[in-house]
Amino acid sequence: MKAAVLHGNYDLRYEEWPEPQVKPGYVKMKVCACGVCGSDMPRITSNGAHYYPIVLGHEFSGYITEVGEGVTSLKPGDHTAAVPLVPCLECEDCKKGYYSLCKHYSFIGSREQGGYGEYVVLPEKNAVKIDDSIPWEVGALFEPSSVAIHGIRQAGDIKGKTAAVIGCGIIGILTAQWARILGASKVVVFNRNEKRLELAKRTGADETVTTKDEFFVEKAYELTEGRGFDFVYECVGAQPTIVQALKLVANHGTICMIGTPKGEVTLTQREWEYINRKECFITGSWMSGCAPFPGDEWQMTSECFADGRLIFDPEMLYKKVPVTHPEEVTEILKSGEPVNGRIVLMHEASEEKE
Ligand SMILES: [Zn+2]
Ligand SMILES: [Zn+2]
Repeated sequence: MKAAVLHGNYDLRYEEWPEPQVKPGYVKMKVCACGVCGSDMPRITSNGAHYYPIVLGHEFSGYITEVGEGVTSLKPGDHTAAVPLVPCLECEDCKKGYYSLCKHYSFIGSREQGGYGEYVVLPEKNAVKIDDSIPWEVGALFEPSSVAIHGIRQAGDIKGKTAAVIGCGIIGILTAQWARILGASKVVVFNRNEKRLELAKRTGADETVTTKDEFFVEKAYELTEGRGFDFVYECVGAQPTIVQALKLVANHGTICMIGTPKGEVTLTQREWEYINRKECFITGSWMSGCAPFPGDEWQMTSECFADGRLIFDPEMLYKKVPVTHPEEVTEILKSGEPVNGRIVLMHEASEEKE
């Protein structure tokens, strides 16, 4: 088979790669679309991969071409999205259903060959059936959607509560959508970029606030009768946005840190004091999944994309790039232009047989 193979920094090549073989309990998936995650960027640009050469890609959709002995839930032709996390299912964390905290996990697309390749062989449970009406590039957003649902659930029941979502990357946009679907009374999205705020509005946010405005905190408090937000979801992972979360949270509210920090984070004494003075709760979220593995996030995503509660907007994608020309990805990353939304590698899907 062919794959976009990473050989070193900024060195992605479309070339031959050994085709994985199906085995008992596993299925073989023909990949149709695969997202280039923010977490893939340092792997591609700054020695961030576990080894070289490597085939990355953990956000992908496609269809089943072969099933191994003992597989009962899937058959060839089924449309599927991949669950990249392969937990051990035996350790204490796994037994509690905290699969993403497993210390013995494997991960498709960073430790094992991923969806930048034409085919991926994965455990039966790691391929989730998705509605046939869902386009492949939308199927590549299932993993980010599961991350958004996981982050919201980590912080507690959103029903009837106010929600602030900081950030308009794919995780921020999907977190705002899930806050709305799961019953938040008001969803307000914060970001610097006006165009991204328009996208948040189009995909169902009640209000948006530009953080370029020096009085944005005051504006935000007006939207909550001066209380601040019951839940704040930080979906960026940067110093200023982490401080924004502390400013926006209500007394006794909860902050969930979904974004992973890209650099050092320090708080001034005054900033730290928000935690004391508001008696707020701070929690974190890591990947996705809940018991029984892989959890219902994938099913929820399939249902909501199919019935339109989850809104797909073309601007959720930055660019669709044919996997045959992976150098287009490295050129975008080299240029330093801000990548808003997902770059999605599109594979040839025409051989599909129903
Ligand atoms: Zn990802
Ligand atoms: Zn485990």
